[in-house]
Amino acid sequence: MIELTGKGVSGGFAIGKINFIDEKAVTVEKRRVSDTDAELKRFDLALKTASGELDALYREAVLSVGKGEAEIFNIHKMMLEDFDYLSFARDMIKNECVCAEYAASVTKEKFSHMFSSMEDTYMKERAKDVRDVSDRLINILEGKNQTETCSLSGIVAAEDLTPSQTVTLDKKAVCAFITRAGSKNSHTAILARSMNIPAVAALKDSLRPEYNGHTAVIDGFSGKVYIDPTDEIIKKAEKEIRNESEVAEQLRTLAGKPTVSTDGTKINLFANIGGLTDLEGVIENDAEGIGLFRSEFIFLGRNSAPTEVEQFEIYKRAAQRMEGKKVIIRTLDIGADKNADYLNISKEENPAMGLRAIRFCLLHRDIFKTQLRAILRASAYGNISIMFPMIISRSEILSAKNILAEAKKELSAENIPFNENIEVGIMIETPAAALLSDTLAQEADFFSIGTNDLTQYALAVDRQNSAVSDLCSENIGAVLKLISMTALNGKKSGIWVGVCGELAADTSLTEFFIKSGITELSVSPRYILKLRKKIREI
Ligand code: PEP
Ligand code: MG
Repeated sequence: MIELTGKGVSGGFAIGKINFIDEKAVTVEKRRVSDTDAELKRFDLALKTASGELDALYREAVLSVGKGEAEIFNIHKMMLEDFDYLSFARDMIKNECVCAEYAASVTKEKFSHMFSSMEDTYMKERAKDVRDVSDRLINILEGKNQTETCSLSGIVAAEDLTPSQTVTLDKKAVCAFITRAGSKNSHTAILARSMNIPAVAALKDSLRPEYNGHTAVIDGFSGKVYIDPTDEIIKKAEKEIRNESEVAEQLRTLAGKPTVSTDGTKINLFANIGGLTDLEGVIENDAEGIGLFRSEFIFLGRNSAPTEVEQFEIYKRAAQRMEGKKVIIRTLDIGADKNADYLNISKEENPAMGLRAIRFCLLHRDIFKTQLRAILRASAYGNISIMFPMIISRSEILSAKNILAEAKKELSAENIPFNENIEVGIMIETPAAALLSDTLAQEADFFSIGTNDLTQYALAVDRQNSAVSDLCSENIGAVLKLISMTALNGKKSGIWVGVCGELAADTSLTEFFIKSGITELSVSPRYILKLRKKIREI
């Protein structure tokens, strides 16, 4: 037996055969062409085919993994429409009289190198996308099948999965992912969690191609991979898998049951969503409302901001689908790790501390007011609340409420219905907000604690940086103090306080939250029933 250690990025156990995704580099022959016009036409036709394939992949991905994940195919499409990329390839065909596949291959190398040598980690990651989309183009030009990975099953092994590979996988046949690269936030890890299968990343060179076809046991909790496992390891994994499915079955029985602790304390158990496609999981897992609708996802992966009508339709559908249950829409939290080119946010040294969220909105009142009008209009169709992100002061709340008042006035003048008494809350995700929570409570109808950012800012630990991520759990005490202080100040002012960051799903903290006076927990839909079980036992 060989034991490998990586990073467990999606919990769970799996037993299966290792199946390496074919990582052979696409090699392209340099062929001379005499009719460059015909070759340019062939190139353009392949572009059109690739664009059609990406549209189909997008639609498929929306259904299988949700809109947020699917956006990557729109990004790929945009790459294929990029002026510099296309000019470079076309010039090669025209001036050097080379075949289209060779031009695409050289363009791929040039542009992926350009991205990979960038400082910004997000831009670095785009190198993989350039390679992925260029290989699609080359395969089309060479008449190759694009969906080779479909047949992969068992434990899928790779350097790191590309978005194209992940959506063409037969998800029912795959039981785990293991990768040399990747981290908790890598595309493969996010996909594994949304598919509810174990994944181990960062195995580096210990994950060798010769393990292809070997049986392995994956432990997505500890990050262990056992190649050619002993009978004892297999038995242990089988037991864990049986336990997991029994637990899942038991949890299903909690759907429809109230979320009340043994002493009768009612907790509102809500879900976090990024778009309408997440609503199925919300309903399936019996969430009691939406505690955090990350509205910025509606703004990502497009060329211009969504219009008032587009946003109104989305918020309205969410409100209607939730049938009177609370839907808390967080206003645009753009900036930092979430950016959209068309918003022209200039490059910042420290974007997490820069012009993001409410700061951006107060500066771009038109975008902000459009969103507020859309939310207000949707409020006539269900139980919608508004929540402002990244607040650090009372004056920010007042400015945001002023713009909200303007939006209300406009709608009234236009005879458009909305809920005049719409609840307006704020996120507590900066130490400043927690420390000022007694004052801020005078201006807010509720607080929702965003522990992801609160932890980042309280501990000075970049939430994107895996090298320092262990510091969060080791130093949680400071964050918990800020949470208790916020809960206490909220209670004193008679407003409710919830938690919507990732810590809300940590069952080792549930008792602490309840004792602190937190009355709402908002988590990913998949954690709802597990958390209900925990609360009912407290
Ligand atoms: C948070 O910061 O905890 C939060 C819920 O917001 P986001 O993760 O979207 O920044
Ligand atoms: Mg946040």
